[in-house]
Amino acid sequence: VPLVLTQFLDRAVKLYSEKVAVIDEERETTYRELNSRVNQLSHGLKALNIRKGDKVAYLAPNTLEMLEGFYGVFQLGAVMTPLNTRLKPEDYLFILNHSESKVLFVEKELYPLIEPIKDQLTTIETIIAHGAAEDQENYYSYDQWLTQFPDSAFDREELDESDIASLLYTSGTTGNPKGVLLTHRSNYLHALTVMHHLRVTDRDTLLHVLPMFHVNGWGSPFYYTANGATQVMQRKVDPKEIFKKVDRYGITIAHMAPTVLNMLLEEHSLNPEEHVLGQDMRVVIAGSAPPPAFVTKVEEDFGWEFIQVYGMTEISPLVTISDIPSTLEHLPKEEKHLLKAKTGYSMIGTDVKVLDENGEEVPRNGTTIGEIAVRSNNVMEGYLKNPEATSETIRNGYLYTGDMAVVYDNNYIEIVDRRKDVIISGGENISSIEVEGVLYNHPAVLEAAVIAVPHEKWGEVPHAVIVLKQGAQADEEELISFVRSKMAHFKAPKGITFTDALPKTASGKIQKVQIRKDFWGEND
Ligand code: ATP
Ligand code: MG
Repeated sequence: VPLVLTQFLDRAVKLYSEKVAVIDEERETTYRELNSRVNQLSHGLKALNIRKGDKVAYLAPNTLEMLEGFYGVFQLGAVMTPLNTRLKPEDYLFILNHSESKVLFVEKELYPLIEPIKDQLTTIETIIAHGAAEDQENYYSYDQWLTQFPDSAFDREELDESDIASLLYTSGTTGNPKGVLLTHRSNYLHALTVMHHLRVTDRDTLLHVLPMFHVNGWGSPFYYTANGATQVMQRKVDPKEIFKKVDRYGITIAHMAPTVLNMLLEEHSLNPEEHVLGQDMRVVIAGSAPPPAFVTKVEEDFGWEFIQVYGMTEISPLVTISDIPSTLEHLPKEEKHLLKAKTGYSMIGTDVKVLDENGEEVPRNGTTIGEIAVRSNNVMEGYLKNPEATSETIRNGYLYTGDMAVVYDNNYIEIVDRRKDVIISGGENISSIEVEGVLYNHPAVLEAAVIAVPHEKWGEVPHAVIVLKQGAQADEEELISFVRSKMAHFKAPKGITFTDALPKTASGKIQKVQIRKDFWGEND
């Protein structure tokens, strides 16, 4: 039997047909009803002439419509292409044309982002708006459109596990976003691995906080659907509303960005009386290197287990997990929190190595830095229409992540920096993240980005670009001596530039590539 993603919904419909599958605001939908809507959608897409391999784009927050889109699209062998809701019209123009998407489903409130570029879309034939009131030419209201089609079983396209299921664009932190092609097999095996590591069962109720359009939230519908779990939609980040849902629906598990968890901690400390802490919540999962104190806060103040994951669009996405294995269960609590704040160890089915420049594994000493390389079934087929970038990224059977890390003797990996962001000064590697960490401890600093700038003697030296907190004061000399008092002198910035705001991606990551341009010119 080929490993195709439609099996996940089939299983849930068979075993859990009358169980609530999705809660989206006031709408509760059982697995049977979800399946009916999925079938209607597939019939509708067929009527629009969508065929195997065609790209179907979605521009929507976490909604029932978005979730049914996954399976409705897969039944035709078509490719799900979700779009980040925080991009600009020019970005949508690029992605929709580059991907050659044929149909666009868009949340009504987001339609104004598409309107200005509508006439320049070269391959989109139909736009269907969720929640739109009336049909216009080539623009349909989803609800009216969907009800025309039968909910009878759809005669599925024959699929192989090596067929492409999804096309997701990377965040564009280090350059232009790239289109990542993932097969059914990659998504399927990724789902099996994650559901094992997170011990997902039919007793779980998930809160979809991470957007499903972004790779961090992308894979989760598969493993919660396969287990017949209930999935509650969170459309936007709103701490009060998240607390309410966690309590009201007995949420057991949630994936969140650390910034969202931070907002929850903040909200709870400001209004402790207002929120019930969700007794059923067993674990929260987050990416991107949180400080150990943060892990302690989540676990102690909230009583929620915290697990860090690391991944990237190109790997479906997850690679490592920072759960504590039973062999380390004896460690004191503080040390466990320290470990969970490290990036984690490899998930089942994923061969993770940290390699030096000669392709040799670095020693497991916690100090020698190398690049993370990954071999697994979850690795992408390649970048769409970009063979150069593909062959640069996948070499000798490994995907080179561009993330630099150290390995400890217990096999935990810790990300040090992105390869492009490491500063090489007089033969020493300086982690920009480490220097930024020190700067963030200064009371006047709101945001910090440390980059390499050219230097006659040392090749490169660290330079910091700083946004100060409102009303706060600090000059160059003070910040530099602050850093020098806390770390090796060669790591301290040699200069500081003050600015009002740092350039960021739609998912809030600082784009150092943009900042470097001011110091190196375009050819960085
Ligand atoms: P682009 O590839 O377009 O420059 P991007 O790399 O930010 O953008 P994503 O695939 O969304 O696009 O992000 C993956 C990257 O996020 C990883 O390569 C890594 O640098 C970072 N990351 C993910 N998880 C973690 C983590 N737990 N700790 C530190 N960094 C992380
Ligand atoms: Mg990347």
